[in-house]
Amino acid sequence: MSVQAVTAKMAEVELKDVTGKDAPPAISPLTPKAEEKKSENNSTLPSAAAATVEPSPVTTAPSPVKMPQASAMKRPDPQQNGGEAFVNCDGTVAEAPRMKKIQFADQKQEFNKRPTKISRRSLSRSISQSSTDSYSSAASYTDSSDDETSPRDKQQKNSKGNADFCIKNIKQADFGRREIEIAEQEMPALMALRKRAQGEKPLAGAKIVGCTHITAQTAVLMETLSALGAQCRWAACNIYSTQNEVAAALAEGGFSVFAWKGESEDDFWWCIDRCVNVEGWQPNMILDDGGDLTHWIYKKYPNMFKKIKGIVEESVTGVHRLYQLSKAGKLCVPAMNVNDSVTKQKFDNLYCCRESILDGLKRTTDVMFGGKQVVVCGYGEVGKGCSAALKAMGSIVYVTEIDPICALQACMDGFRLVKLNEVIRQVDIVITCTGNKNVVVREYMDRMKNGCIVCNMGHSNTEIDVASLRTPELTWERVRSQVDHVIWPDGKRIVLLAEGRLLNLSCSTVPTFVLSITATTQALALIELYNAPEGRYKQDVYLLPKKMDEYVASLHLPTFDAHLTELSDEQAKYLGLNKNGPFKPNYYRY
Ligand code: NAD
Repeated sequence: MSVQAVTAKMAEVELKDVTGKDAPPAISPLTPKAEEKKSENNSTLPSAAAATVEPSPVTTAPSPVKMPQASAMKRPDPQQNGGEAFVNCDGTVAEAPRMKKIQFADQKQEFNKRPTKISRRSLSRSISQSSTDSYSSAASYTDSSDDETSPRDKQQKNSKGNADFCIKNIKQADFGRREIEIAEQEMPALMALRKRAQGEKPLAGAKIVGCTHITAQTAVLMETLSALGAQCRWAACNIYSTQNEVAAALAEGGFSVFAWKGESEDDFWWCIDRCVNVEGWQPNMILDDGGDLTHWIYKKYPNMFKKIKGIVEESVTGVHRLYQLSKAGKLCVPAMNVNDSVTKQKFDNLYCCRESILDGLKRTTDVMFGGKQVVVCGYGEVGKGCSAALKAMGSIVYVTEIDPICALQACMDGFRLVKLNEVIRQVDIVITCTGNKNVVVREYMDRMKNGCIVCNMGHSNTEIDVASLRTPELTWERVRSQVDHVIWPDGKRIVLLAEGRLLNLSCSTVPTFVLSITATTQALALIELYNAPEGRYKQDVYLLPKKMDEYVASLHLPTFDAHLTELSDEQAKYLGLNKNGPFKPNYYRY
C-alpha cells in the first residue's frame, strides 16, 4: 500500500479512537471528499483534532503497549531549574535558550528619524541575534548595496497598482518568482496541502501577521496559506536574511510585505508596525520566529489580542519568551510551540547540519575534506550530523564528549573519542556543537597548527572564546566575508569562521527540504489553532499533537517513493496502537 493511502487513512481516524472520549469530532480542516478518500493520490490532514486538548505533561513511566495520547503537549517551563537548564519534552535536560533581550523601540520612537549608515549597522547587531536559533536558506543572490535609497523613501507599486508593501525593488519580481519556483520543488508537503485545499479553505477568514525570515521557502509557505484562504501581512524577523527578489515577487503577487536585506533597527520595528498598524485590517493569527512581533503587539496594541486566536512560534528564543509570558500569567491566547515538534528538532539538528556543515566550510575556505583530521566537540544531534558528513568525505574524525552515553554512541559509530588537548596540535579543523561555553579556549588556539580552521555549529557564539583572541599581539586579517585569519607573532595563523557564530546560518544555506518540514508544521499549527473550537486550547503553550507531527513526516515520504508498512489489526491490537497513529508515546526519543 502506498504512503498516500496510509496518510489518507490516517486522516480518517475518529477522535474517539484516539482519545477514548466521546468528544465531538474536531475540525478536519481539509476533510476529504468521500471519493477522494478512496484515491491513493490524495492524502488528507489528520483530524486536527485527533488531539485531546489538555496539555499533557511529560510522561515518565513508559509503558510500551499503552496507547499514547495524541494530545497537544505542554512543555515544561524552561525557567525551571533556576533558568540554567530546561527539561525537553522527552525528559532530557538541555541548556536554557539564551534570551535575546527584547529591545522595544521607544514608545515615542519617531520612525522617520533614520539612523546613518554606520549607526544602522551597529544597531542591527543588537537585534540580529533574535533569530539565530532558527534557520533560513537565506543567502540572497541580489546585492542590496547597489541602491542606497532606503525603501522607505521609495514610491513603488506592483503591476496591478497596489502599493501596500515596502521592499527593496519591485523590478526584481521575476527573478524572485524563479527562486520561489525552485523552492517549491523541495517543499512537497506544502504543495500537497495546496492541492488538497482546492475545494476547501481551512484558513478562510484568517488574517495572519507573520514575522519570519523572508526567503523563497517562506514565500512557498505564504502562498500556501493564501491558497488555504488566509490573508497575510509579513515582516522579516532578521535584518539580514531577506531575499530582496523574493520579497519583490511576493509584493508583485499581492502580498503586503515589509522587508529588505540590511534593515536598520528602526526599519525593523517600522516594518513590523506596518504589518499590524493598518486601517481596516486586524490580524487574528500570529506566526512568529523569535517573538519580536508577538511582543510588539503586546507592547503597542494589546487590545488586538481580543481578536487573535493563537500564536505559532518557531524559535527557541520565541518559545522561551512565550513560556515567560505564560508563567507571568500574561499569555492571553493559546500558543503553539513548533520548535519542539519532533519533525523540526530531529531534522533541523541532525540532517540539516549533516549537509550544511560541508557547505559552510567549502564556501568559506574551499578546503578539501579527504584525509583531513577533524575534531567535533559534542556528539548530540548536531555533532552526529557533522561527524557523519565529514567521515563520509574521507576525513579522519575525532569526537569529544562529556556525556558517557553520547560518548559511547560516538565509539559505536566508529569515531575516536578523545579529549580536545590530546588532538589539538594535529587537527586541521575544529568544530564545536555543544551548546556550551568556552569549549575552545585561547590555550587550545595557541597550540593549534598553522592553518587550522575553527568554527562553531552551536546556537550561540559562546563555544569558541573569540574574545581571548582580541589581544594586541595577535593580528586579525579579514580575508573573505565571514573569514578571519588570526595571526600569531611567529606567523602562525588560524582560520576563524563567522567570528564563532553559527557557521551554517552565517555562511551557507540550509536545505529547503528541512525548511519544508518546519513550514508544514507551521501551516498545520495555524490551521489547528484557527479552527479549534472555543476552549480546546487555553492560554498556554502547546506542542503540535504527535499525530500531526507524524502527518508532516508522511507528507514528505512520497518524495522518496517510500512505501510505509501498515499495521494489521492483529499487530495494532498487540502493540496497543491505533492503526492510524500516533505510533509512539510522547516520551519516545526517536
Ligand atoms: P545536544 O544537546 O543533543 O548535543 C550537545 C552535546 O554536547 C551533548 O551530547 C553534550 O553532552 C555535549 N557537550 C556539552 N558540553 C560539552 C563539552 N564541553 N565538550 C564536549 N561535549 C560537550 O544538542 P544538539 O541538538 O546537538 O545542538 C547543539 C547546539 O547546536 C545547540 O546549541 C543547538 O541550539 C545548536 N543547533 C544548531 C543548528 C545549526 O543549524 N547549526 C541546528 C540545530 C541546533
